[in-house]
Amino acid sequence: MPVGVRRIILRSMATHYDFFVLGAGSGGVRAARIAASLGASVGICEEARLGGTCVNIGCVPKKLYVYAAGFADAFEDAAGFGWSVEAPSFDWSTLQRNKDKEIARLNTIYGRMLENAGVTIHRGRGVLTKPGTIQVGDETITADHVLIATGGSPWTPDVPGIQHAVISDALFELEALPERALIVGGGYIAVEFAGIFERLGVDTTVAYRSGLPLRGFDEDVRACLADELKRRGIHLRPDLHVASLQREDSGCVEVMYEDGSLQTFDLVLYATGRRPNTDGLGLDAAGIAVGDRGGIVVDDQFNTNVANHYAVGDVTDGIQLTPVALAQGMALARRLFGGPELAYDPDTVPSAVFSRPSVATVGLTERQARKRGPVLIFKSHFRPMKNTLSGRQERSFMKLVVCKESDKVLGVHVVGPEAGEIVQGFAVAMTCGATKAQLDRTIGIHPTAAEELVTLRTPEEESEHV
Ligand code: NDP
Repeated sequence: MPVGVRRIILRSMATHYDFFVLGAGSGGVRAARIAASLGASVGICEEARLGGTCVNIGCVPKKLYVYAAGFADAFEDAAGFGWSVEAPSFDWSTLQRNKDKEIARLNTIYGRMLENAGVTIHRGRGVLTKPGTIQVGDETITADHVLIATGGSPWTPDVPGIQHAVISDALFELEALPERALIVGGGYIAVEFAGIFERLGVDTTVAYRSGLPLRGFDEDVRACLADELKRRGIHLRPDLHVASLQREDSGCVEVMYEDGSLQTFDLVLYATGRRPNTDGLGLDAAGIAVGDRGGIVVDDQFNTNVANHYAVGDVTDGIQLTPVALAQGMALARRLFGGPELAYDPDTVPSAVFSRPSVATVGLTERQARKRGPVLIFKSHFRPMKNTLSGRQERSFMKLVVCKESDKVLGVHVVGPEAGEIVQGFAVAMTCGATKAQLDRTIGIHPTAAEELVTLRTPEEESEHV
């Protein structure tokens, strides 16, 4: 048979897998690798860089920026400890270049991990043409099991002139830092970038529609963070909506708020939440249902409404956190291909906000816990030891929410340096069902901030919560 004819026939034949994954982000890669390690034939498709949002335009580069910003604190704090530091200078382009190199290294590692696991990578967008059939470019792929793990993307409200604002994706490509930035929104991304910008010398304003940032977090945490952000010189503008944005001849963006006031910025970032990436995946062709909030509807085993089709991570309407997507991908692959079952407890999913100061939390807020029954509240508001000699006025905050009847710890909340590092260990304790008595029996590590959480002895007076 002539070679050309043979190639056409091969092309028209579908490649078949036991398991095919759309999207090589955190959840998809984890599911693919575990499935392959359990003996399944696995393919994965990705149209952008391997690693998804977390590796390329999310957690990882953001944390590198957080480290960069942290040096500003270190230089300021050093003097009280006897160091004299000549006026330090900062070069954004060096940070960007080094960050890009690190992300490229991680992309390569992701590719190698998949290949070493025996997963075939298909470069391109995967589109379902019917249940069990996916088109990637001119390749037709069929699979017994299909996982959709295409993540989410920043969402912006329909405000006149919104095209003059940027979303978080663009910050990772920014050529120069702005002099004045407005961040719209009061969630994770807003407060994290407020801390990064402020420490890197940007005059930073955060405008949000609630009274406090970080809706959904414990009220004391929200209030404490707002106070500390203000103390750091970040301009907080609560209870405010943007009415319109307009590009000036100078290139700056003029912002009109709904109260009629005007402000001009060099950069406006919208950090108003993220939405699932469900467009253009062929979900209709496969008959896969999407919920009111835009995510693929799944049950607690990550099954969609179509048999043998699953979804994990940000493409569903669940918790938008990388470790949750990883846990879901792993749990699904094990369920399908015979590994040991692995469930996670949705009540003890910890999270950290890498603001400055940082915030971390696990379990219930005081308000959520009170809805379930009587609680005891333990709090500590203190100036960390390092801030004595440094002269920094910033204070830390720690809070325990404890069930009055069972003594179980229901919530741990921290605002302060390394909050995420502290709370990770308490999340283990809470996942094991720790009680307050068990925390009391735990010896503290002295001198640390974390020891505060095992030395809190006196609950707040009940009357304070009426
Ligand atoms: P968030 O959901 O955290 O916050 C969205 C913010 O936008 C809220 O302040 C919200 O206000 C506001 N908002 C929503 N709609 C409008 C609107 N129409 N007009 C004005 N304001 C609006 O979203 P992010 O974009 O910050 O982050 C998305 C998710 O990504 C997070 O929820 C988190 O799960 C994840 N993430 C996790 C990180 C981490 O683990 N460190 C870091 C970054 C992101 P209101 O509160 O009043 O609704």
